[in-house]
Amino acid sequence: MTQMKKVFKTIGSIFFLVMISSLLLFIKYRPAYSVEINGENLGYVSNKNDFQKEIDENILKTDEEGIAFIALDNVNYSFEFASRNMVDNSTTLANVSSKSTKIYRIYEVSSDNSEDTVYTKSEDEANNFVNNLKTKYDKVDANLKITVLYIEDEVSDETIQTAKANLENTFETKQNEIVETEKKKAAAAVAARKASARKASSTKTTSSSGTSSSAGTASANLNGVSFTALPITSYTMSTRYGTVNRAHGTPHSGLDLAAPTGTAIYAAASGTVISASTSSGGYSGYGKLIKIDHGNGVQTWYAHCSSILVSSGQTVSAGQQIGRVGSTGYATGPHLHFEVRINGKTYNPQNWLY
Ligand SMILES: [Zn+2]
Repeated sequence: MTQMKKVFKTIGSIFFLVMISSLLLFIKYRPAYSVEINGENLGYVSNKNDFQKEIDENILKTDEEGIAFIALDNVNYSFEFASRNMVDNSTTLANVSSKSTKIYRIYEVSSDNSEDTVYTKSEDEANNFVNNLKTKYDKVDANLKITVLYIEDEVSDETIQTAKANLENTFETKQNEIVETEKKKAAAAVAARKASARKASSTKTTSSSGTSSSAGTASANLNGVSFTALPITSYTMSTRYGTVNRAHGTPHSGLDLAAPTGTAIYAAASGTVISASTSSGGYSGYGKLIKIDHGNGVQTWYAHCSSILVSSGQTVSAGQQIGRVGSTGYATGPHLHFEVRINGKTYNPQNWLY
């Protein structure tokens, strides 16, 4: 019996010790959840579902303006016995919060024309800015784009204002460049028009099919003789009346109107052909020469012809074709040497024609 008593006593003692130990353990430790993010322990909580609700309510949910959402990596829970003083919801929540990141929604305004980028806090602000640029700098092909971006750092108002000013400056410069270019182009166009008007006034080009009626028209009166046709209608004036050059030696007695060989020559006014031949004597340099007498001492001469289509004594009407341009006589290239003479004296044909 004493043996049995000893056994019971021992069992009792062991049970008592286990109970005491358990009690001591429960005083210091308690079952809890270790809260971890990316393997890092952030504290212990008593109830993982309640704690997750706290995270949702206090960390992930936000009404703060400009914040799109709060980024937080996965929170993991593992069941453990934890030292009672370690189980602390509020501290753990603060630790979890410190691992969260505010993600701001911003609107990026960018342009193909600039490296400057503007960030705005709202879509309205972005649209307003873009519309303002388009209105103010209408000549700039801006290709402005608005892109929604999610970023971790809040953009300060100062940064926004500076970026806006920079982009506006870029556009201002572009617009000014375009305006300047347009001005230059406009000025060049005006100059070109003036030049072409000058050329037109000296060329008096008209269509020609070789018939008398289609010769270039002109209208001027000399001693009752009216010049109503241009001797040639398409030409380059190579030497004016009175010019002294090597080819003539003396002041030029007429107008040199350069044109391709064969170009039609018309009578400037109606009259009678008085000479239509290779000139000789004092006028050998004229090559094949046509002289027309218009009456009242007025004559017109057409020199260096390649061919003569009229004969001496023939009456011609104004604009009638009388010959073709050539380079007979003293000529360095095909041209019509045209003279107006009154009583044998030469005058500047440009007083009446060209
Ligand atoms: Zn000449």
